[in-house]
Amino acid sequence: MSDQLSTRHLLGIADLTTEDIELIFRTADGFKEVLSRPIKKVPSLRDITIANLFFENSTRTRVSFELAEKRLSADIVNFSSSSSSVKKGETLIDTVNNILAMKVDMIVMRHPDPGAALFLSRHVDACIVNAGDGTHEHPTQALLDAYSIREKLGKVKGVKVAIVGDILHSRVALSNVHCLKKLGAEVMLCGPTTLMPRHAAALGVRVEHDLDKALRWCDVANMLRIQMERQGGDGIANFPSLREYAMLFGLDRARYERIARDIVIMHPGPINRGVEVTTDVADHANSIILDQVQNGVAVRMAVLYLLAAGIPRDHSGA
Ligand code: ASP
Repeated sequence: MSDQLSTRHLLGIADLTTEDIELIFRTADGFKEVLSRPIKKVPSLRDITIANLFFENSTRTRVSFELAEKRLSADIVNFSSSSSSVKKGETLIDTVNNILAMKVDMIVMRHPDPGAALFLSRHVDACIVNAGDGTHEHPTQALLDAYSIREKLGKVKGVKVAIVGDILHSRVALSNVHCLKKLGAEVMLCGPTTLMPRHAAALGVRVEHDLDKALRWCDVANMLRIQMERQGGDGIANFPSLREYAMLFGLDRARYERIARDIVIMHPGPINRGVEVTTDVADHANSIILDQVQNGVAVRMAVLYLLAAGIPRDHSGA
C-alpha cells in the first residue's frame, strides 16, 4: 500500500489511480478524527503557503478549502478575480507568476475555462489543485461525494449511483463518473435529452431520461444543481421552465415515497430548493447533504497534505 500519490497536482479524477483515491480516503479518515477533537488543528503544513485563486464565484468550496488549509496550519492568501488585476487585462500566467514570486508553494484554483488548471500546471512551478474548471472537472467534490457514500453505506464498490440533472454543464458529474467507476460503483446519468452530453454512454455509464425509472434502479441519487449561469440565452434555453424541470426531474416527498425503499439523497450544493429537491427531501433522514459538506474539509485536508509531501521542503530550521 503506497503512502504517496502518483501525481504532483490534482487536476482531475481522470489522472488519479484507484490506489490514489483509496490513499486520500484513508488519510481523510485520520483528519476526520482530528476534526472531532476540541483543538481541530495539526501542524502538518506549517511551512507551506497556499494561494486560493477564485476566478469564478464560490462559497462552499472556497470556505471548505480555506478551513482545510487553516486546520493544517498553512499560511494562506486569497485572491478573487473581482478584486484583482485580471480585470485590468493581466494574463492568467502573469497573475499567477506574480503570486508565486511571493514564494507560494501551492495554488488552489477555480476558473470558468475547462483546462485552466492543466494549462497552469504546465506553465508555473507550483503544485496546482483544481477547485473546478468550467464544465470539466471538480475533483475534490467527487472525492468527498464518494467518501460520503463509503461512510454511509460502508462501501462504494457495487453501489448503484444515479447522477441526476444538468449533466451537460456539470463538472461534478464528470468527476463523479470517473471517481465512482474507478471505485467499482455502477453509474447512471439521468436528465433531459437537452442537458445530456451526446456521447454520455461512451463514459461507460447507463443513460436514462425518466427520473422514476432511475430512482427505482439506484441506491444513491445525486441531484445536481441546474447551472443557470451556463445555460446561455435567457438562462433556461435548454428546458421550457424551471417549473416543468422540477415536475419531471425534481425529487419531492411524493416521488421519494413512491420508491418504497431507502435510497440515499445527495446534492453538491448550492441547492435550488423546490427545483432539484424540495426542502422535505433535502432535510430527510436519508439525505447526506450536510455530511458531504462536513466531509469536504477532511477530504481537502487529505488532498493538500498528500500533495504537499511532493514539495521540496527545508526542515533544517535555517
Ligand atoms: N458547487 C459545485 C460546483 O462548483 C456544484 C454547483 O455549483 O452546482 O460545481
